[in-house]
Amino acid sequence: MDGPSGSGKSSASRGVARALGLRYLDTGAMYRAITWWLLRQGVDPADPAAVAGRAAEPVLDVATDPDAPGIRVDGVDVSAEIRTQEVTAAVSAVSAVPEVRARLVAEQRDVIGAGDIVVEGRDIGTVVAPAAAVKIYLTASPEARALRRTAELSGTTTVEAQRAAMARRDTLDSTRKADPLVMAADAVELDTTELNLEEVISEVLALVKERT
Ligand code: C5P
Repeated sequence: MDGPSGSGKSSASRGVARALGLRYLDTGAMYRAITWWLLRQGVDPADPAAVAGRAAEPVLDVATDPDAPGIRVDGVDVSAEIRTQEVTAAVSAVSAVPEVRARLVAEQRDVIGAGDIVVEGRDIGTVVAPAAAVKIYLTASPEARALRRTAELSGTTTVEAQRAAMARRDTLDSTRKADPLVMAADAVELDTTELNLEEVISEVLALVKERT
């Protein structure tokens, strides 16, 4: 399941994994975890050579239980720390570095193994798992995405600030050279603007039933 931030990927993919008894992998959390570690090390996220030089160092351990997702860096649980504005503002620069992507795509494929998993990200249908049985590209209007994210961050931001931050991240993620955010040719696009979470999950489950 791919799509921009705020399209509802995380809640939908966890819900689908739960409903089908599958594992769940949040690949964005892996990019965020490396970004968190680089910031802690004092590495400038805007310096691709510095990022590339250190990207292999932190050891990541990502949980795949949809009821208890989380991520550890060098044994430390950073599931909350990776959601700060500081990490969010820096992650797109880090994820554009080819060495970072090469490392994480390989680790994601290891976790995916033979399958039976719902994977969410930006390049899952195009790069990480091009043979996936079902590919979904979630979208929503910029307004709906900004409203959702503002509600999640209750009280700490405004809809306008979120809309601007998301537009910036979308541009960076979809214009980078390495594995940009793009819909796979064989993906099904699902616009979630007018749908609630239960409706999104049932649309996806219907699609899975039809395709597998
Ligand atoms: O999904 P989430 O918003 O947590 O992802 C954070 C960032 O990680 C994205 O903005 C993008 O830069 C990067 N990312 C990526 N490829 C993925 C998943 C996330 O480049 N498969």
